[in-house]
Parts: sequence; C-alpha cells; structure tokens
Amino acid sequence: MENLFEISELYLQYNSRKGVSGREEKVNALNGVDLDIRRGEILAIAGESGCGKSTLAKALIRLVKPQRGIIKFEGQDLAGISSEAMKAFRQKVQMVFQNPYASLNPKMKIYEILEEPLVINTSYPKDKRQEVILEKISQVGLDKDCLEKYPHEFSGGQRQRIAIARALLLEPVCIVADEPVSALDVSIQAQIINLLKDLKEKYNLTIIFISHDLRVIKYLSDRVAVMYLGEIVELAPSKELFSNPKHPYTKALLNAIPSFEKKKIAEDLLLKGDLPSVTNLPKGCLFHTRCPQVMEICRTNHPILEGKDCVRCWLYNRLTD
Ligand code: SF4
Repeated sequence: MENLFEISELYLQYNSRKGVSGREEKVNALNGVDLDIRRGEILAIAGESGCGKSTLAKALIRLVKPQRGIIKFEGQDLAGISSEAMKAFRQKVQMVFQNPYASLNPKMKIYEILEEPLVINTSYPKDKRQEVILEKISQVGLDKDCLEKYPHEFSGGQRQRIAIARALLLEPVCIVADEPVSALDVSIQAQIINLLKDLKEKYNLTIIFISHDLRVIKYLSDRVAVMYLGEIVELAPSKELFSNPKHPYTKALLNAIPSFEKKKIAEDLLLKGDLPSVTNLPKGCLFHTRCPQVMEICRTNHPILEGKDCVRCWLYNRLTD
C-alpha cells in the first residue's frame, strides 16, 4: 500500500510555565517519531494522556511546528512547500476535534458553518455550495432541517456528525480525528465510530484516529501505533497487537482494559508509578521507571524501534536476535 505520510525523526519541544512560580520549563512532547501512514488505512495512535499523541496529530496538520524531523505528504516535504501547495494540503487533510461543543461557532446556523469553508476554498456558485452541503449532511445521517438551526439545539453526537460533515466538504483524502468520541455518551460513541468506518469505505479515506480507548481502537483500526513519552514503542496490525502484544507497555495497557470475562487484572503486568515528567525524561528506555520487566541495560541504553515487529524494547529484541 502506498504511503500517504512519511514521518521521520520528529522532535517537538515547547515552553511551559510551572505552577505559581511561573518558572519556564521545556516540555519534550515528541522525541523522535518515525511513522509511515498508508493511504486508505485507519491508523490508531494510542497511549495515556500526555504521551504526545495529540501533539503528533497537530504536527501532522501543521498546527504546531516541530523543531526537527521531516513530514512528507504524498512524497513532498511539508517544510518546504509553497503557500499554494500548503493550501491544497489543508484541503486534503481535515481534522475532527474532541469537543464537538467547542468546535462549532455557537452564533452561526449550521448552514453558515458548512458554507464557510466552501466560500473560502472553492469558487463554487451558491447552488453548487447548497448541493454539496445537502449531500454531506445526509451522508452523516442528519436531516436537511438541521441546517437552519444553531449548534446548541443539537446533542453531542449530532454536533460531532456536523463536525464530520464539515470535514468532508472539501473532499479530503485524510481525516485526523483527535479523541472524536471521548466527550460523548457510550451509547452514542458506537454510532460515530460506525459512521467513520462507513465514510472510510465510501471515500477510501485515510483516518488517523487518536484515542486512549483501546476498545474503540480494537474495533475500528487497521494498524495501531502505541506512544509513550513522545515516542512510538510498538507499531503493529490491530489484530496482531491485540492478540499478541510485545512491548511491556502495550501489555500493561491491554491488561488494564476492564472486561466481564477477566476475573482479575494480572499483577505482574501492572504499571509502576506515574508517567514521568515530560520536562525531565528518564535516561535509557523512557519506560524503564515503570516497566515490570526492567533490566540493567534499560536504565542506560535507549532502544530503537526496530525489527519486523516494530517494537522498542531491549527485552524483545534480545530474545528474537
Ligand atoms: Fe522494559 Fe527494558 Fe523493554 Fe524498556 S527496554 S520496555 S524497560 S524491558
């Protein structure tokens, strides 16, 4: 399958002010991300909050600029492209945000919200704009009557459908969905997930799905990249990752998923302690302070993401070498 994105050695740091002292600290949000994203796949990026997955999503769509590294889209380095090419890129790659309450302007009717990107980005006449809006709103399962209403008149699930319709207006090839269902009731989550799945099939979309919810990821994704402290620690096809996780962090995340069948959570797989501070990364393997299988080498040497299974772990690489 052809690569849509090719990401190599991505580093992103930003300054943050700490507590009441207001002291400035450097946050190491991305610490060398390498990742290819294939056209037409649903790639999930998983991990605890603070692991860098949302920053990676923002870096991909150039909402934030990494200090180092390369992001290629359709073979072109995004750092060096013209403003015209950047405009075309922004049309091809759309974002759906976590909070459908905040992402729609409360003062505009839904029709105006949906018409705005078409007015800005296309030369469509009024009747063509109307045709596109009616088509997209029906594709996300809403009635045309909704177009005369304001965002506050809708439920969370309906607002997320409107946000998805807006993302589809400019015929994107890729949607970056950042925790798109985590603000919704569980009963509504399934509807939005199924909608994304259907739209992916209909338009051969590439979907980059950012989530901390592994149950949703298991259902939706083709491949999964697991992130920890700003780097990818395991990358695998979804079926394989859920049936045979290799990295101790992935194992711990899967072990922590509540399930009716599971009688007990395996103690030996439990994470120790909290996520270390992103302003002061551990030496060696970034996961060593919490890893149930830590060895001496892990405290001093930083493993790389390697091998056919794409696992960043001394334990696994040693055993398979
Ligand atoms: Fe654990 Fe060591 Fe593997 Fe890191 S390299 S995940 S500390 S076993």
